[in-house]
Amino acid sequence: MTKYQDNQFFINNTLTRSKELFAPLNPPHVGLYVCGPTVYGDPHLGHARPAVTYDLLFRYLKHLGYKVRYVRNITDVGHLESDADEGEDKVLKKARLEQLEPMEVVQQYTNRYHEAMNALNILPPSIEPRASGHIIEQQVMAEKIIEKGYAYESNGSVYFDVLRYNKDHHYGKLSGRVLEDMVSDARKLGRQEEKRNSVDFALWKKADPAHIMRWPSKWSEGFPGWHLECSAMSKKYLGDHFDIHGGGMDLMFPHHECEIAQSVAATGSDAVRYWMHNNMVTINGQKMGKSLGNFITLEELFAGSHELLEKSYSPMTIKFFMLQAHYGSTLDFSNEALGAAQKGLARLMGAVNALDKMEPGDAGSFNIGEFEQNAYRAMNDDLGSPVLIAHLFDAARYINTTLAGNDSVSANDLEELRRLFRTFIFDVLGLKQEGDRETEDLSARLVELLLNIRLEVKKKKDFELSDRIRDELSEFGIVVKDKKDGFEWEFGE
Ligand code: ZN
Repeated sequence: MTKYQDNQFFINNTLTRSKELFAPLNPPHVGLYVCGPTVYGDPHLGHARPAVTYDLLFRYLKHLGYKVRYVRNITDVGHLESDADEGEDKVLKKARLEQLEPMEVVQQYTNRYHEAMNALNILPPSIEPRASGHIIEQQVMAEKIIEKGYAYESNGSVYFDVLRYNKDHHYGKLSGRVLEDMVSDARKLGRQEEKRNSVDFALWKKADPAHIMRWPSKWSEGFPGWHLECSAMSKKYLGDHFDIHGGGMDLMFPHHECEIAQSVAATGSDAVRYWMHNNMVTINGQKMGKSLGNFITLEELFAGSHELLEKSYSPMTIKFFMLQAHYGSTLDFSNEALGAAQKGLARLMGAVNALDKMEPGDAGSFNIGEFEQNAYRAMNDDLGSPVLIAHLFDAARYINTTLAGNDSVSANDLEELRRLFRTFIFDVLGLKQEGDRETEDLSARLVELLLNIRLEVKKKKDFELSDRIRDELSEFGIVVKDKKDGFEWEFGE
C-alpha cells in the first residue's frame, strides 16, 4: 500500500490538519474502514449521518483517482446494552422480544438498512463483513494479545489488561481520556467481578446458559467482545496498516480507543493512519432518544409519518441537508431546516436542467476556472461540502441569469460548466434527480405562463392581481424579480 502520511489530514481530534489533504498522487490504493451498524432496529437518522459522511469521502477519493477498498462491517454479535461488558446482547434481546432466531433479526435489519442506504444513494462498500462470520479471526487475535502479555483469561472469559498495556503504550490517546480518572471513576462505582481492573474490557465472554449466540473456544463456549471485531476484520481485509478509519463521534470512546489498544497489543504498532469522526444529529436541539419521543426512523422521514414531522422529506433532501453541514459539526433537525434544504436542492437541480437548455454565445461574467479551483479547494479542506455547495449556488445563480438572457456563456465555458456542475452534484456529493423531469419541466412552463399573464395584467394596471400572483408564487418558494423588459424567476433558497 502506498504511503501518503506526509499529507497529515482531516482529523478533527488528534492529528494535524492540512489543507493539502488530497495532494494529487499517482493513484495509490486507499484502505478505508468504517464501523457499520449494529443491526437490531430500524435504520434512523443516526445511521444516515455516518453513511452520508463516508459516502462523500469514498466518492471523492474515487473521483480523485484513488483505488479505494472500503470495508464497512455489520455488527451482529457482541454489542451489549452497556459499554462496560454488561447487559444483554442487542441482537439477542431483539430476537427474544420478537421470538426470532438471532440471524433472522440480523438479516431483517440488514435488509432494511440496505434499503435505506439505497434510497439515500449511498454507494455500497467494497466488502461488508459480519462479526459472526469472523469468530476465528477474533479468537486468533485474542490469543495473540494474551501471548504478548496484554490480556488474561479469567473464569472462561478473556479481558484486555488496560493498566499493563498503558505501561508500555498510551491508552486514551485518541479520545484524550486520562486513565487514572477512568480507574478512580470505576472504583467509585465499585464494580469488579472477574476483571483485574474495572477499566479492562472483554475480548471473549463466556456465555450464560441462556445466551444462545455462542461459539466454542479454548477458553469457553462464548462470544467475542464488541471492540475486537473491527480490529480483526480490518486486519483481515486491509492489512496490519491502513489509511483511514471512520465512525461516529460516539464511537471514539471506548470503541475506537479499544481498537487502537488491541491492534497495538497484537502487532506492536498502530493500524490506522487517520481517524475520522462524524458528529451527531440532534432533533430540535435535543439528543435523539427513544425515551424522549424524538426517535425518527428514516422510513418515517421519507413517509412523513412521525408526529414531529410537518410533512415527508425525500431521501435526497435528507442527504443534501446533511451535506450542507460539515461532518465535524453537530447537525440539528427541524422542519424549518429541512424545508430550507428542500428548496436549496430544488434550486440546484433546477440549474442542472437549465444547463441543458443554455445556448452558447459571447463569454460571460462567470470565471469557470476559478469556480473549479474553489470547488476542489473546498473539498480538499477537510471535506468541506458546505463550502462546495455555496460555490455551486453561485454557479446556479449564473446559470439562471444566463438562461434568462441577462448574461452569456461561451461554447467552451458551457461545456466545462456542464461537466463540473454534474461531476460535483452527482459524482462527488452523490445526489440524484428525484422528481420526474417532465413534471419539473411542466412546472417551469406553468410558472412562465402565469408570469406572462401577470405582465398583461400589469399593463392593464391591475396591480392588486399582479401582486397576488407574485405573492402566491412566493408561497411555493418561487422568487420573482421584475425587470424593465419582463421578469426573472427562480426557486428561492
Ligand atoms: Zn467498529
